[in-house]
Amino acid sequence: MGKLICPLCGVYTSFALARTSEVGIGPQITDYPGLPNYAILTCQACENRFIAEKVKGEWLAVYPLPHKLANEYIPEPIRSEFEEANLCFTVRAYRASVSMCSAALEAMWREQGVSGLKELREKGIISKKLFKQADQVRRWANVAKHEPIHEAVTSEEAEQLLSYLEKILDDVYVEEKQLSSLIEKLERVEKNASSKAKVESTSNRINLEFVRKHWKKITESMKGEGEKGNLDAFMRASCEPVELDNGTLTLGFYHKFHFKYMQERNYPALLETKISEVLGMPIKVKYVLIQRSLP
Ligand SMILES: [Zn+2]
Repeated sequence: MGKLICPLCGVYTSFALARTSEVGIGPQITDYPGLPNYAILTCQACENRFIAEKVKGEWLAVYPLPHKLANEYIPEPIRSEFEEANLCFTVRAYRASVSMCSAALEAMWREQGVSGLKELREKGIISKKLFKQADQVRRWANVAKHEPIHEAVTSEEAEQLLSYLEKILDDVYVEEKQLSSLIEKLERVEKNASSKAKVESTSNRINLEFVRKHWKKITESMKGEGEKGNLDAFMRASCEPVELDNGTLTLGFYHKFHFKYMQERNYPALLETKISEVLGMPIKVKYVLIQRSLP
């Protein structure tokens, strides 16, 4: 029986005649000369029924009207005009469809802030090929609306011009947006993956052993700090790292005197900043009293 576009689901599909007993009326009025040839068809894709008319041997949905919804990235009023051009095509108002295509194009160049199709091309908003297609839409619309040209616009021609408009709108509004949303997501995913990997590799690498091994270098970053400007030497002489747990570094002081000295001077913020900088990860510091173990 051929194929057509289902007005309900929009799929280009085969269909079946609905059975007479199911619909209550004859599925197809045939053999009445002069009467249009209608039938109730069942879409094989969505299984809904619709009314179709046979024109020159081809079935065409007539109710409900198939309507193609334009992509939401296409801004108004361009989107509505494009949809109307499609609707005109559906009811075989081909000249009106071409006119609406041209109106949509005009709305498009206005939206882009240029003076016409030529400037769209000159500014690189559309390619040379799309410009030629857009120009055809514009010129056919002129021919379709101006008397006394009564040359009919065929369904093939109207369909072709509609497809040109769709390609142009796709290119200018849809593809760019779809591409940037892909790019954005990819960048986000990559960034998350790399920062996660970085934190993991840093915290895997940095353990107590690492801190003890690099303790001299870490304390050197404190040179010039403290009351006497020798916090680095003081730290090397008075304490050692004894524990690193979940980002908290415990410093063990050998003498009560130094331990109290550090507690009174409220140095943790300074130490934490310096140690975090050297290790490349956030570190908290706490003090305890211990017996010396480092040589
Ligand atoms: Zn369907």
